[in-house]
Amino acid sequence: MAADIKQMNIDEQVAYLMQGCDYGDAETKRNMEKELRARLIESAETGKPLRVYLGVDPRTTDLHLGHTVPMRKLRQFQELGHTCTFLIGSFTSTIGDPSDKDKTRPQLTLEEVMANAKTYTEQAFKILDPEKTEIRYNHTWLAPLTFGELIKLAANFTVQQFLARDTFAKRYSKGDPIWLHEFFYALMQGYDAVALETDVQVGGTDQIFNIMTAGRKLQQALGQKPQVAVIVPLLPGTDGEIKMSKSLGNHIAINLAPADMYGKVMSLPDDVMPLYFKLVTRYLPDQIAAIEQALAAGSRHPRDIKMELAREIVAIFHGDEAAREAEAQFKRVFQQRQLPTEMPERVLAEAMPVVDLIVAAGFAKSKSEARRLVKQGGVSLNDQPVREIGREIAPAETPAVLKVGKRKFLRLLPA
Ligand code: ATP
Ligand code: MG
Repeated sequence: MAADIKQMNIDEQVAYLMQGCDYGDAETKRNMEKELRARLIESAETGKPLRVYLGVDPRTTDLHLGHTVPMRKLRQFQELGHTCTFLIGSFTSTIGDPSDKDKTRPQLTLEEVMANAKTYTEQAFKILDPEKTEIRYNHTWLAPLTFGELIKLAANFTVQQFLARDTFAKRYSKGDPIWLHEFFYALMQGYDAVALETDVQVGGTDQIFNIMTAGRKLQQALGQKPQVAVIVPLLPGTDGEIKMSKSLGNHIAINLAPADMYGKVMSLPDDVMPLYFKLVTRYLPDQIAAIEQALAAGSRHPRDIKMELAREIVAIFHGDEAAREAEAQFKRVFQQRQLPTEMPERVLAEAMPVVDLIVAAGFAKSKSEARRLVKQGGVSLNDQPVREIGREIAPAETPAVLKVGKRKFLRLLPA
């Protein structure tokens, strides 16, 4: 495949790089396509690879499947010979991106974010080509900026431009505080593009303001050519609806163990499967179309399609062998014991008494009824009877299935 990619003409390259991109409006897409084409032509003529960047904020220790969507785009640029910067937002993280949030985010220290970022590079190289990746940290140029320099940057924007943003507009109309430092997030990210002298910035649709309004504007103001925005759609989290995000807890971390990763994918709602195939797998468009058709026609069981998805995702991060093993384990646990694949779930962040779990799941009306069920021998954890009324389940015992009576199941997942 890589050989074919090198043979692509400019039109094919533009189509390849723009495939699946989403700008929310057709005109912006056309403009970005035009600018990308011009840059690719220039790069072919001068022999200078394009400088492409993606920034990720280490507010927690995990990269997740959502991050792999823009990372995969970066990888495509690498396949075409361009240079990519994986920017660790060591300074931006201390504030936190307000783009997709309706509340002010707690500030973190540089020490905290550097500790979170410890394994970021290693995780990123599961998708990116290490030979063609530069790793940078944005505190190296953002921390030394002086107040005077900051004012010059800020003078390129109006307060109205910021207040027009959805997240700020909502807070403004509700009378919720919008702290002044939150406006600086977009400025900082915009300045990253200036410091890196980028040709292209990749990001999800939540980044349109940071990349287009802030980044392009600052580059122009400081005498650079504005970067081309390559915007990818957002992957929903395990709830199937809201953007997968490390701060919402609906994410699938890319360094999860194979069995846990397989199990989390199996817990996705059926209707998001096509989007997952499109955004996180290595499947080609015609393979994805065949899956969509099979789902619509009901010619394949959705569970089997989900198992294929889970196998592919585990294979990407852990290899084919681990994917096969995870699947075999899943089948042993869920199919041979004739457990349903769809069941309510609960993430166990701390140890919890079995009786409380039974009541919380709605399997018993009261604690005394739950205790009675335990006493009668009607409760089991992974097929092992639970006999002690005071039994607690610890997060280390998950993933596991709690069975109550003959037909009530609760899947317990690690946090
Ligand atoms: P936070 O909730 O702290 O903002 P995050 O999960 O959104 O965290 P970021 O570091 O803010 O992660 O995002 C880095 C890049 O990855 C951005 O370009 C963002 O658009 C993209 N990204 C994050 N989540 C997703 C997702 N679910 N689907 C596609 N792209 C995503
Ligand atoms: Mg974010």
